[in-house]
Amino acid sequence: MRYNPFSYQERYGLRLQRLALDGGFTCPNRDGTVGLGGCTFCDNRAFHPSYTHGKSITQQIEDGIAFHAQRGRKADGYLAYFQAFSNTYAPLEVLRARYEEALSHLLVKGIVIGTRPDCIDDAKLDYLAALKQQGCIVEVEYGIESVYDTTLERVNRGHSFLCTREAIEVTARRGIPVGGHIIIGLPGETREMILEEASVLNGLPISSLKIHQLQILKGTAVETEFKECPADFLRLDPDQYIDLLADFLERLRPDIAIGRIVSSVPPSFTDVPWGLLKQEELLKRLENHLEERNSFQGSKYIHPTLNPKLSKN
Ligand code: SF4
Repeated sequence: MRYNPFSYQERYGLRLQRLALDGGFTCPNRDGTVGLGGCTFCDNRAFHPSYTHGKSITQQIEDGIAFHAQRGRKADGYLAYFQAFSNTYAPLEVLRARYEEALSHLLVKGIVIGTRPDCIDDAKLDYLAALKQQGCIVEVEYGIESVYDTTLERVNRGHSFLCTREAIEVTARRGIPVGGHIIIGLPGETREMILEEASVLNGLPISSLKIHQLQILKGTAVETEFKECPADFLRLDPDQYIDLLADFLERLRPDIAIGRIVSSVPPSFTDVPWGLLKQEELLKRLENHLEERNSFQGSKYIHPTLNPKLSKN
């Protein structure tokens, strides 16, 4: 492979299937604690699997296992993936109850927690590190979205990149694998900014990265912004996206495993048809594109200490 694909088999020696769960958490950027209305691109309903709606965590796990089994996906075990909203945004005793309900399922080997970097603290991280020491798989995925504060402000993210950096560092310091999530094509970001973003990410102790194209979902604030200021958006078609992604990956640290490169939502959520392309298809295109260039992830990687541009970050 010309990029470094994320693999649980490689990381843990097991075929593990993630079960996306709704742990019943909310988001401080929606309930008024940090902000109201949420990030301008967010419509969390678009990412909830049908089997999660209104059920206990145990029931979601049972239904999730059946969901994947029906699709012929074989697994040695499952990971409870707390995906919806901000999954460390609750008091520790609430987190403990929800995570441990998932971990009590015989087939669940661990938890993967998606959250915001401003929803973590030492007590929560110490608890997660202790779970890991007891033999559970524990991973945390932070929504980075952008390394630029101007962008984070524009999308109403409600935290700075410094906050992201600190959360990632304190989590990794406890030996917990950290994943990041970024969005390519946020308003105001140029191709050059996106390529420079790879250099900034190289300086973070992340072990994996999910990359999504910006999806303009119906009814979101970013849809309005897109209609009003289309020139502020890159408006990439799939081929242009793959080309940019190849440039980005050439600059990215080779050990960062790539989890996803595309986000797709049910057709009712967007008018932009290429957003419905499947991950496997895009990955194939990416691999072919890198091959045509005779290139690979990290081929233009510069170690952060040798990169003069990074002094400003
Ligand atoms: S993207 Fe995440 S942090 Fe932003 S509003 Fe949606 S749930 Fe909250």
